[in-house]
Amino acid sequence: MMSWFVQPGRFGFCGYAVFIIALAVGLVGCSSKTKMPSNLERGQVLAHRYIILDGHIDTPTRGLFTDEQIGVSASGEFDHPRAIVGGLDAPFMSIYVPARFQHTGGARAHADRLIDWVEGQVALHPDKFVVATTPDDVRAAFVAGQVALPMGIENGAALEGSLEALDHFYRRGIRYITLTHGEPNDICDSSYSIHRPWKGLSPFGVQVVARMNELGIMVDVSHISDQAFWQVLEVSTVPVIATHSSMRYFTPGWERNMSDEMVRALGESGGVIQINFGSWFLNEAALLANQAFRAKLGAFMARTGHGYLDAETQAFIEAYFAENSYPYATLAEVLDHIDRAVEIAGIDHVGLGSDFDGLGDTLPSGLKDVSDYPNLVAGLLERGYEPVEIEKILGGNLLRVWSQAQAHASRK
Ligand SMILES: [Zn+2]
Repeated sequence: MMSWFVQPGRFGFCGYAVFIIALAVGLVGCSSKTKMPSNLERGQVLAHRYIILDGHIDTPTRGLFTDEQIGVSASGEFDHPRAIVGGLDAPFMSIYVPARFQHTGGARAHADRLIDWVEGQVALHPDKFVVATTPDDVRAAFVAGQVALPMGIENGAALEGSLEALDHFYRRGIRYITLTHGEPNDICDSSYSIHRPWKGLSPFGVQVVARMNELGIMVDVSHISDQAFWQVLEVSTVPVIATHSSMRYFTPGWERNMSDEMVRALGESGGVIQINFGSWFLNEAALLANQAFRAKLGAFMARTGHGYLDAETQAFIEAYFAENSYPYATLAEVLDHIDRAVEIAGIDHVGLGSDFDGLGDTLPSGLKDVSDYPNLVAGLLERGYEPVEIEKILGGNLLRVWSQAQAHASRK
């Protein structure tokens, strides 16, 4: 068994190969031409007919610790073969800068290293991948049968306090920035920390949002505090996005997810919430299980001095989950979050931000890796969504905001 950190998908490529063979046998064996396709069959078709854009996939950080090629096969939740099976067209690669770099320095260099990794994967398999910096790039890749790899930075600490760094990262292909991560930085406060030095956005953060608007870098409000969210909405002249957040309604009081009031305002301003698939974003039992685990893990690491990726820590994690079973959420709960987001914000303001490769082994049944999007599409069909609505959720809405950000920038 792989660790909490690198557990491969359980219903991955092999599962789908079996499914497709079974489907072929079933269709050949069926003499009736009037047989209605099942929702799963229709989901399979629509997942490949429409562009699936996922707002947040954390593969680059995994990539730094392995020599795997995502163009061939990877032990995480995203690689090219499974993207093809699942119909994934444009996973935003998360250029994740851990908060520790705010204390040690080196945040910008770390972001550059991760961007280098993405470019390196494309260079290894230019027939399979292309870096995408515009919505048109995504559409062209879709037509050409390539998987587009747009990029977003998770944690504006990568700027190291410099507005010039925004120009640098724009040139490198970054098209959104999550303003902070687990701690407050020099831009804004974090939902994960009770330390709130800025009561929202800092004066530098206001400048950062304005300059991002000018350049055409989308503002990502996932991870930031509620106060920072409301101030971003005031400051930004372009609709903003939440690349991997879910509905707080189902996890009351947990600030990392968005309240109905915030989702409504996000929608009214033209933005998009991209629903996170992690079990602990979906229900309270999983959230409490995660919090209990993290407390134990933190105590272990502090006591022993081991890092997260050390063999001893991984052994601790394995032992913990051998004793404490994890309350996985279900695909139906992801659909519940989408339903509520659509009800509150409207069909034009909801998307997908799986957080694959960033959640450890906490993904819900039926959505274990990038080969599983057809299950989600089948679920949307079952709940009565029309294909035109599904196209919006799968990627159309985010492409619209991206185009708006781009058009706004080109006016300058
Ligand atoms: Zn995140």
